[in-house]
Amino acid sequence: MTIVIIGAGLAGAKAAETLREEGYTGRVVLIGAEQELPYERPPLSKGYLQGTAELGSVYVHDAAWYEDKGVELRLGVAAAAIDRDAREVVLADGSREPYESLLLATGATPRPLPVPGTDLAGVHYLRTIADSQALRAAFAHGGEVVIAGAGWIGLETAAAARLAGCEVTVVEPDPAPLYRVLGPEVGRVFQALHERHGVRFRFGAAVTGLRGDSTVREAVLSTGDVLRADEVVVGIGVTPNVELARSAGLEVADGVVTDASLRTSDPAIWAAGDLAESFNPLLGRRVRVEHWANALNGGPAAARAMLGREVVYDRVPYFYSDQFELGMEFSGDITGHDEVVYRGSVERLEFIAFWLRGGSVVAGMNVNVWDVVGDVQALIRAGRSVDVKRLSDPEVPLDQV
Ligand code: FAD
Repeated sequence: MTIVIIGAGLAGAKAAETLREEGYTGRVVLIGAEQELPYERPPLSKGYLQGTAELGSVYVHDAAWYEDKGVELRLGVAAAAIDRDAREVVLADGSREPYESLLLATGATPRPLPVPGTDLAGVHYLRTIADSQALRAAFAHGGEVVIAGAGWIGLETAAAARLAGCEVTVVEPDPAPLYRVLGPEVGRVFQALHERHGVRFRFGAAVTGLRGDSTVREAVLSTGDVLRADEVVVGIGVTPNVELARSAGLEVADGVVTDASLRTSDPAIWAAGDLAESFNPLLGRRVRVEHWANALNGGPAAARAMLGREVVYDRVPYFYSDQFELGMEFSGDITGHDEVVYRGSVERLEFIAFWLRGGSVVAGMNVNVWDVVGDVQALIRAGRSVDVKRLSDPEVPLDQV
């Protein structure tokens, strides 16, 4: 019996680990397009980019672990096709890996900036270790950095660039940072934080072109303004790597569609991590979550399901970030919210923000307040109306709101 995993990222590596923990003794083959052992990406825009974390700390396991656990690594070679009739994965080198069960964990790729000039030297995307190393080297020269996109990657990169001594301008078409994830009000907290540290924002503007000789020198904005740019970082989102699944005829929407046990439209194939669009019974709809915790938990959930265990993957979406002196964790989904309630001090950057819909908590973000995620997620799961006065009062324990 062979289980093949395509995608040697966090979801894939954690799935392999769980297969062994659950006592599976058959072959496990982990196929990865990158040459690297599976690694975690969050440090690439934080500690590793800032030079405070070692490269060794990003790997999920060292090489000896895979050998010890009998997980066969096929790194540096992409899966090119899935032959569902033969139940074989066709690799780019022409070889084939037969499977009884297959996990797709191919993650996502940064969305390209669709403007002229992105092929100039000095234009960066951030997804891999090599991308992070290139950015770190670029920031070490100082100079003017223009960042396209005020999402998580854009803001974390802005912080790293400022800490390295660069001048930084973030260009964002929306009216505030993180506008779609946090809404306008809470996004302003991040704006104020970054401005205090000297980051400049250009809201309501898009980068429409990059100019230079062989190296980028200027960013042209939709407003007609031209910014000097020694380096440009593009952080405008990712697209899930669904091509393999699509060409194999699996159901694909925004991501690879799965049920609540992470099984795709082919009963022998599962999907987890950034590329999976899974039915979440808690939210009552399919969601695709592009965050670390979803890879960390989704890979193991899919592994258990592949072994025939009863799995209902209904986790509250969760994300964390660190920017300058702000550390935060976000749980839930603000869609349709009609009220934001704060507990604690926004000025001192020590608070929890709650998003409510019809009087119930649908999302929460704790900023420099720790060990509360369980309580915040319990409020979201409960789905009942809360007393806003008690919710905003730090004296009332969260589990008694
Ligand atoms: P990936 O990590 O993308 O791994 C998929 C792997 O599959 C890749 O190595 C890819 O090369 C490989 N692959 C693709 N196609 C094929 C193929 N055909 N054949 C073989 N291999 C293939 N999330 C948070 O919650 N908090 C954070 O602070 C945070 N910070 C981040 C910082 C950065 C710089 C980045 C890039 C992401 C960050 N994330 C963060 C998101 C988080 O890292 C992702 O959600 C997570 O990496 C998803 O894991 P995955 O295993 O699904 O996919």
